[in-house]
Amino acid sequence: MTFDVVGVGASCLDHVCRVPVFPVAGGALSKVRLRSESRRCGGQTATALATCQSFGLRAKYVGVVGDDDDGARICDELAGRGVETSDVARHPGRLTATATILIDDTGDRIVLWHRDAALAFDPARLPRAALSSARLVHVDDVDEPAAIEAARIATRAGVPVTCDVDHVTGGTDALLALVSLPVFAQHVPGELTGEPDPERALRALRRRHPGTLVVTLGEDGAAALEGETYHHEPAFAVSAVDTTGAGDVFRGGFIYATLQGWPIVEALRFANASAAASCLTLGAMAGVPGLDAVRGMVRGADPTPSIARIRTDQPR
Ligand code: ADP
Repeated sequence: MTFDVVGVGASCLDHVCRVPVFPVAGGALSKVRLRSESRRCGGQTATALATCQSFGLRAKYVGVVGDDDDGARICDELAGRGVETSDVARHPGRLTATATILIDDTGDRIVLWHRDAALAFDPARLPRAALSSARLVHVDDVDEPAAIEAARIATRAGVPVTCDVDHVTGGTDALLALVSLPVFAQHVPGELTGEPDPERALRALRRRHPGTLVVTLGEDGAAALEGETYHHEPAFAVSAVDTTGAGDVFRGGFIYATLQGWPIVEALRFANASAAASCLTLGAMAGVPGLDAVRGMVRGADPTPSIARIRTDQPR
């Protein structure tokens, strides 16, 4: 079977805790009663692939979980959504990666995460045929050796590679060299270049990477440098309940748009709408929207009063 998108990277079991205020050590706020708690599936690549599948793409997830209940739950959730999981490794005797996510009443987040260092996917076990025959390969930077090898296999086969670059490590340059379409987290271009302004940072990165460079900007939407042209697309205004997974859903939407062959501005807009729709529901994978909801948002046809396109032509 061939896939539209094969993703290699992180999955995670999120413990989502709503709090009235964030705790502060050493005072009255050192103990805070949770408003609610729930356990939900997430993780960068797993959530991006769940989004691709939700939009009608055939998606395959490759990654590693523990041989515990959390790992089984992630596999079941992905499979239930139609994502192919036959190459998910279950690491014996290890716990699945987890994140404890505190969300306050303003929607701000604190994430405490744990991932056993032994939870690494053996690059020798990557499904070469699936990677070489996919229309697009997506990786993240959580398990860099596997991501780099997957990107190498794809690149050799002429398959485009998107990447979620969330933090700067010693392997970032090696990974970027194999990625055709990097999608950076907001802080990364600045860290890589010393330029705090996103446009200046992407222009500085142009010297190191010839492809279209994309950065997510939280409530400010997203931007891309295509050739020497900088595009900024504002976010969709929503009453965000939880932004967990918004970046992952953005990447899923961006992959969908890329595979449709849409121009970069359309792709950014569609990805922004996907991400904004995901902010309306608590949890990462639980917030993955359907295609119709996103299309409705893009058309401005969504009847929900809290949703409206904002600042479409704001100059930067
Ligand atoms: P991450 O979730 O990886 O930290 P961002 O915070 O940059 O990434 O968010 C990813 C995308 O989610 C943004 O590019 C934007 O489209 C959307 N987004 C994030 N926060 C909001 C918000 N409060 N309202 C609407 N869209 C949002």
